[in-house]
Amino acid sequence: MKFYSTNNKNLKVDLKEAVTQGLAPDNGLYMPEHIPVLPKEFFDTIHTKSFRDIAFIVAQNIIGDDVPADELRRIVDHTIQFDAPVVEVDDHAYALELFHGPTLAFKDFGARFMSQLLGYFAKEQSQEIIVLVATSGDTGSAVANGFLGVKGTKVIVLYPSGKVSEIQEKQFTTLGQNVIALEVDGTFDDCQRLVKQAFLDDVLRKKYFLTSANSINIARLIPQSFYYFYAYAQVKDKNKPVVISIPSGNFGNLTGGLLAQRMGLPIERFIATTNVNDVVPEYLKTEVFTPRPSRQTISNAMDVGNPSNFVRLLDLFDKDFARLSKDIVGYAFSDDETRAAMRHIYASTDYVMDPHGAIGYLGLIKYLEERGEDITGIFLETAHPAKFKEVVDETLSRPIDIPLPLQRFLEQPKKSIPMKSDFEGFKDFLLSTL
Ligand SMILES: *Cc1c(COP(=O)(O)O)cnc(C)c1O
Repeated sequence: MKFYSTNNKNLKVDLKEAVTQGLAPDNGLYMPEHIPVLPKEFFDTIHTKSFRDIAFIVAQNIIGDDVPADELRRIVDHTIQFDAPVVEVDDHAYALELFHGPTLAFKDFGARFMSQLLGYFAKEQSQEIIVLVATSGDTGSAVANGFLGVKGTKVIVLYPSGKVSEIQEKQFTTLGQNVIALEVDGTFDDCQRLVKQAFLDDVLRKKYFLTSANSINIARLIPQSFYYFYAYAQVKDKNKPVVISIPSGNFGNLTGGLLAQRMGLPIERFIATTNVNDVVPEYLKTEVFTPRPSRQTISNAMDVGNPSNFVRLLDLFDKDFARLSKDIVGYAFSDDETRAAMRHIYASTDYVMDPHGAIGYLGLIKYLEERGEDITGIFLETAHPAKFKEVVDETLSRPIDIPLPLQRFLEQPKKSIPMKSDFEGFKDFLLSTL
């Protein structure tokens, strides 16, 4: 499979280049040259297949021969080490729980797949792959845990000192091995600037094989299509239309769903749901896209004012607004509505939703009410509620339990290296450590 840049369909690269570059040289995002449709027989028997078997078939369909089948099987098996169950929460409303991985959020799927794929490419070459990642919290933990112990790779996580929660910080500063955490005396933007400057620095570029692990990487997108198939496999009545509501920030998760749909998965419609950072729902109503600075909410992993995958959405529909707005509807909700939904579901069913999942639930319910037909609705539960313990405890007026994997992180001592926010200091550190 070849991958083209969304800025230039003639700029095509192979999988290794797309994954190690992340962003195309013309600043476009990589997309698969074509998206093969899976055979009818696959869908007819999908309910008999395991999550891993489904994921392998989907991965092979999109990646082709770029990775030998036995290697790809190993990569997929390593990615899918935990379940993604579909749980009935309310009449017609099911949660697809994507938080059973090591850092308890859906980003584990993308990070684990990408790390294994890079580990495979590292084996093919003599040089170690250095992954630089700037994080404001969740990306760093998923990426660091994904790469932990992967031979031929080293991860350097840069995070702003004092600006991530204790739970988040512990998830990437307690690991050791091939993961180094740099506690930067500055902001998230400073961390991002240091990473960007490193990629532009001739000395570093010549000396090291540098790559980034940000969310626009195609290797994080591909595995985000797997669980849509697995969700469909778990739907009992496959004669009814299926719609899926996706709580969104950078819209990578929705793009993964659209890839699945293009591979033939019978999802009738996607519901793009956001908090008050609603530039995409607004676009779906008005055809006008207006990026703006993000606003802080209780679903903060979705506080994005200029979603990076928006260009991929446009690309998938050849910029045809009529088609795009037929397949995707959009809604936005406030923090008050989010809290009310969390309370309502907890009071009526005992189910604890995290603020992001609650936004997905709200979008689904609104759509089902407007539609008024007997259809199956699924919303994505993107994080375990304990990851947002303060908000959840306060909203539900009771403390929720911290699951064992998170407790273990909290018990470990933090190991991080303090770093000033100037580039020369960061560069000297890299040259003396790597
Ligand atoms: C990253 C994240 C999202 C948003 O996903 P996108 O792919 O950026 O739209 C939603 N919920 C949680 C918990 C996240 O960490």
